[in-house]
Amino acid sequence: MSDKCKCMKPPFFYLDFDSIDIGEDGLGEITVDTCKRCGTKWIKYLIEEPQLTKSGRWWRALIGKNEENKISANTSKTYIENQDWCFVGGSYFDGEVHKKERPICIH
Ligand SMILES: [Zn+2]
Repeated sequence: MSDKCKCMKPPFFYLDFDSIDIGEDGLGEITVDTCKRCGTKWIKYLIEEPQLTKSGRWWRALIGKNEENKISANTSKTYIENQDWCFVGGSYFDGEVHKKERPICIH
């Protein structure tokens, strides 16, 4: 992983990542996004409320080397909330992506 890779620098472009849908937990939809350039894996938690405009919001956190196997759709929210930082974005934030540090609260 390099700090200079574009997966560490917003704005992000979806074609820079291979996304694998790992399911949902009743609130959000969870994907594992792998950076096509450096191979870094990210867990992304997306909440959309179609009845509300500008409600789409997501959190994307690094997946530690030995943690990928432990993360499932049901544990992803807790996993992200326990990280030191993550990226946050979506239409809810006017499409702006910013870095969020502890405390991280997904809602
Ligand atoms: Zn990368």
